[in-house]
Amino acid sequence: MAREYINIKELMEFNPDIRDMEDGNQLSMRHPQCPAGDDGRQVLFIKKAGAKHLAFCHHCSQKGILTGEQTFIRRGGQNLLIEKDLHLPPDLTFNRSEQPVEHIAWLHQYGITLKVQREYEIGWSENWGRTILPVREYKDGKLLAFQRRNVLRGDFGPKYLTTRLAHIKNPVFKARGPHLGNALVLTEDILSAIKINEAGHYAWSLLGTYMTNSVVDEIALAGFDDVIIWLDDDNEAVRRSQKVMRRKIKQIADVGVMRHGDLGIRENDKSDPKIFTPNEIRTAIAGKLV
Ligand SMILES: [Zn+2]
Repeated sequence: MAREYINIKELMEFNPDIRDMEDGNQLSMRHPQCPAGDDGRQVLFIKKAGAKHLAFCHHCSQKGILTGEQTFIRRGGQNLLIEKDLHLPPDLTFNRSEQPVEHIAWLHQYGITLKVQREYEIGWSENWGRTILPVREYKDGKLLAFQRRNVLRGDFGPKYLTTRLAHIKNPVFKARGPHLGNALVLTEDILSAIKINEAGHYAWSLLGTYMTNSVVDEIALAGFDDVIIWLDDDNEAVRRSQKVMRRKIKQIADVGVMRHGDLGIRENDKSDPKIFTPNEIRTAIAGKLV
């Protein structure tokens, strides 16, 4: 697939020196997958000008710019990239013939149908080499964030990379309904929220295990009577997050935590909702609401 511009963020994975450049610095490197043919020469030049990185390949004449308005942080098990202006990757594709088998298999394994993929714009970006999961504002459809999930065997980067708008501190993915009752299930990942929604319950994904007070305010405003926290509680860090979330939500609603014992699985098994069938999900939630 043709690349129209040089993705400098992606180049940083090939060459971490780019990230450490200072104003006025310049470096040259090979252009990985240069459309004019990678002949091993270091003809891709990167320059740091103020907060910006500029790139130019003397072989294929492609250019790239990174505006310097992004920052990287890690929180709640997530790698975050923060942007002032957010767009989905221009090469996002929903066409199966342009998607690698790993992407198709990853979605299929959790029962995410083509209809659901279209509905939530879950697709493939060749430029990122990852599955793209957009997060939009429930009411007006505004793009708040998007996640990039690694699915390729050779991708040893973090499981999820999240890019969010600078002023949206805690973007929440809200599945669309229709719904039974008035209970909300909070999940870690987007596919889990979609699965719970398919089972008929309200579900929000926190894109990780971190929840700010702004989310508590949103829950209060939405008027849920019951909240169930259903994360993949396979380690101590997640259990600590569950405790904090429970304490915050307790002030505004009845709150329960889904545990391994509630699901009839072993202590070390994964317990995130996306691995269960809609029937199993309904039974588990019904058990928590009595
Ligand atoms: Zn090139």
